[in-house]
Amino acid sequence: MQELTHYLDGAHVKGTSGRFANVMNPATGEIQAKAPLASAEEVAKAVEIAAAAQPAWAATNPQRRARVLMKFVDLLNRDMDKLAEALSREHGKTLPDAAGDVQRGLEVVEYCIGAPQMLKGEFTDSAGPGIDMYSMRQPLGVTAGITPFNFPAMIPMWMFAPAIACGNAFILKPSERDPSVPLMLAELAEEAGLPKGILQVVNGDKEAVDALLQHPVVQSIGFVGSTPIAEYIYAQGCAAGKRVQCFGGAKNHMIVMPDADMDQAADALIGAGYGAAGERCMAISVAVPVGDETADRLIEKLVPRIEKLKVGPYTSGKDVDYGPVVTSAAKENILRLVQSGVDQGAELVVDGRDFSLQGYEDGFFVGPHLFDKVTPDMDIYKQEIFGPVLSTVRAGSYEEALGLAMDHEYGNGTAIFTRDGDTARDFASRVNVGMVGINVPIPVPLAYHTFGGWKKSVFGDLNQHGPDAFKFYTRTKTITSRWPSGLKEGGEFHFKAMD
Ligand code: NAD
Repeated sequence: MQELTHYLDGAHVKGTSGRFANVMNPATGEIQAKAPLASAEEVAKAVEIAAAAQPAWAATNPQRRARVLMKFVDLLNRDMDKLAEALSREHGKTLPDAAGDVQRGLEVVEYCIGAPQMLKGEFTDSAGPGIDMYSMRQPLGVTAGITPFNFPAMIPMWMFAPAIACGNAFILKPSERDPSVPLMLAELAEEAGLPKGILQVVNGDKEAVDALLQHPVVQSIGFVGSTPIAEYIYAQGCAAGKRVQCFGGAKNHMIVMPDADMDQAADALIGAGYGAAGERCMAISVAVPVGDETADRLIEKLVPRIEKLKVGPYTSGKDVDYGPVVTSAAKENILRLVQSGVDQGAELVVDGRDFSLQGYEDGFFVGPHLFDKVTPDMDIYKQEIFGPVLSTVRAGSYEEALGLAMDHEYGNGTAIFTRDGDTARDFASRVNVGMVGINVPIPVPLAYHTFGGWKKSVFGDLNQHGPDAFKFYTRTKTITSRWPSGLKEGGEFHFKAMD
């Protein structure tokens, strides 16, 4: 069986802790590799290497650093198919989805090529007699990021591209469930000209995360994953005096108004609810039709579409709509929640519980589910299911629908489907959720905007990518300088050189 490595100081390095995590093939249920789980000593070694490499990288001018990213983009495009295949093999998502995962990370790398512009700083000429004032953005030093299983290419790139563009060294602790693509990304970055030690990958679990949180040299921690872990990392990281940003779970509502184009709304719900087996933090997991008539029309449109969904391994080609979920534990959790929905009185309109795929009986496939008449007190409404399960909560009015999205503890994304501009504008203005779609079910902002939720979906001040990333990965230093020779007697400026 393949034994994966860490990527330290420009080389694949075997784990020494003696602890490993199984990396599964979710389509077959077989163990396909084992990933080393780093000890605190292995993490300390990575930090030492990063700290030694970082000053020279910080002293490399921003344009040269950006050129490395330009080359990295070329290499990502060159290896797109290889990366997508490796990603699908460990994650289970379809190949087009996997390529999209790489692509959305690549777009942030492209954005970061603009680092020289973003890092220019500010200057005030003649803030006082002979006094100039300027500020500059300097890298933090050694930075680290902890990423989830569901976007093993995109989210690491969202973190390390701005971090290294700003002149930091970055240590990535990817999900132990699909660590191969992060290792490939580190190799490609080095092929693109990134000096050794600037981007390292340490595989691991809580022990490695705690070691990063406690290491005094690590200046910042970025985290994306579930909310309980986000809360833990935010509290620990802040207590250790680090700069921390943590992005957590979600329960995204899509409001469907009676005037919406119902075919468009149903198509949107199929993609946003079931795509990637519902394992997206921006998946729509709650549909909120306004009025019983709207609900009935929507369900009528949804059912045949759901019944047509093709579930299968990524190797079956482009016809597959979604693949297996990531682990057997994830599958069990989804089915447990589905059962709780039935027990608590929701109406299971499409029941995927008996789904099985010939030849892949041991894979972690979950059939699509649709619930109607879900109420806010049910576990399937309160908890993030992270599977192909869409819950319908019927609202009596627009205000009630808005209230549902607003009262939920998560606030990552939301959407409204309507033809009415007033309603759409009111919704966008009032809803307390970080990313809002108007007739767009998954409103993921592009690289030059920023990504982030509100409420329990985020812990920290700054969003991911876009201009916020350059703030997160730099410190501002402001210099006030006075040159007495620039003054004439009486405090006036000496303009002789210009006469
Ligand atoms: P997870 O919280 O289980 O794991 C995320 C990372 O934390 C992994 O690297 C893991 O090794 C580490 N980790 C796990 N347990 C830990 C512990 N006890 N102490 C320290 N570190 C620990 O999340 P996941 O299952 O990999 O990813 C799915 C979750 O991520 C969902 O909740 C999803 O909504 C969320 N997510 C959020 C966003 C966002 O931007 N808000 C984006 C993608 C995914």
